[in-house]
Amino acid sequence: MDFALRDILAARKAIRGVADSTPFVPSSYMTEVAGHDFLLKLENMQPIGAFKLRGAMNAVMALPEDTPGVTCCSTGNHGRGVAFAARNRGIRAVICMSKLVPQAKVDGIRALGAEVRIIGTSQDDAQAEAERLVAEEGLTEVSPFDDPRVIAGQGTIGLEMLEARPDLDMLLVPLSGGGLAAGVAVAAKTINPRIRVIGVSMDRGPAMHLSIAAGGPVEVEEVPSLADSLGGGIGLANKLSFPLCRDHLDGTVLVTEEEIYHAMQTLYYEDRIVAEGACVVGIAAMLADKLDAPRGPVGTIVTGRNLDMEMFTRVVTGQDIELGDYTVKGAPYARKV
Ligand SMILES: *Cc1c(COP(=O)(O)O)cnc(C)c1O
Repeated sequence: MDFALRDILAARKAIRGVADSTPFVPSSYMTEVAGHDFLLKLENMQPIGAFKLRGAMNAVMALPEDTPGVTCCSTGNHGRGVAFAARNRGIRAVICMSKLVPQAKVDGIRALGAEVRIIGTSQDDAQAEAERLVAEEGLTEVSPFDDPRVIAGQGTIGLEMLEARPDLDMLLVPLSGGGLAAGVAVAAKTINPRIRVIGVSMDRGPAMHLSIAAGGPVEVEEVPSLADSLGGGIGLANKLSFPLCRDHLDGTVLVTEEEIYHAMQTLYYEDRIVAEGACVVGIAAMLADKLDAPRGPVGTIVTGRNLDMEMFTRVVTGQDIELGDYTVKGAPYARKV
């Protein structure tokens, strides 16, 4: 496998001016909890409200001159990134998503001028439609995570974090298909081989965690989660994000919906940040004491802000949340530590 820091450095050049460096700021409350500086990489401040613009932009800019357009399947944010990048390049984009994707994300993608196809109830169904568009309409598919240019784009986040804070001891990376974790881990560990990079997922359908444990990609049942951006499988034919995560992550940790709920409240009340459930899994793992003790500064990535505000309001006001047939019991925010 030939993927390295130079790919990430090239990506940084390719996306400059569109997906630029974001702030990396301390959380004073989480610093108290961790006993070391705890820093938040604010990818919620990207123009599409999520880091996925980095990988999508790097991939779309590399398409051939005469491309008829681009397609992808997405849990929402990758589609938004591809739609933004395609509009930037002036090419057609068709985004395939399942019915599990929140309406706020669908609306955001349509607003960027992309065509949207809602297909079935899983990422796999959406994936099949993207493959049909490749075969029948000649569009190029950009995988949300299993693509070297996407991984390189996401890896620029690791580069920025290590440049800002070379003394980081631990990175907590929200983990789904693993494009983010793979890119960040390669960047971070090339610069500082002693850094610990931990992938964090929700315990309901953690595809990469189960695949690493099984020694190869496995299918997971996709169920509604507060961390909807972390849903979906890693693809049974996964070529790159699986081996990179397997080889470079120092561990994977799972958090419950209740822990995610509390962490969303924490980030909102302590740091006044509106963020998706997917962003707070690292904070949730730290608050639930599921990590080895940090020996130095800790960084995590606030990956996106594209959530349903009605749902978010219910969380921060302590109400119950229905996730299909699962209910997350609400409670008003109360400091744990
Ligand atoms: C896609 C996404 C992730 C996970 O990224 P992967 O590369 O699929 O592991 C985390 N948070 C948000 C908000 C996302 O959109």
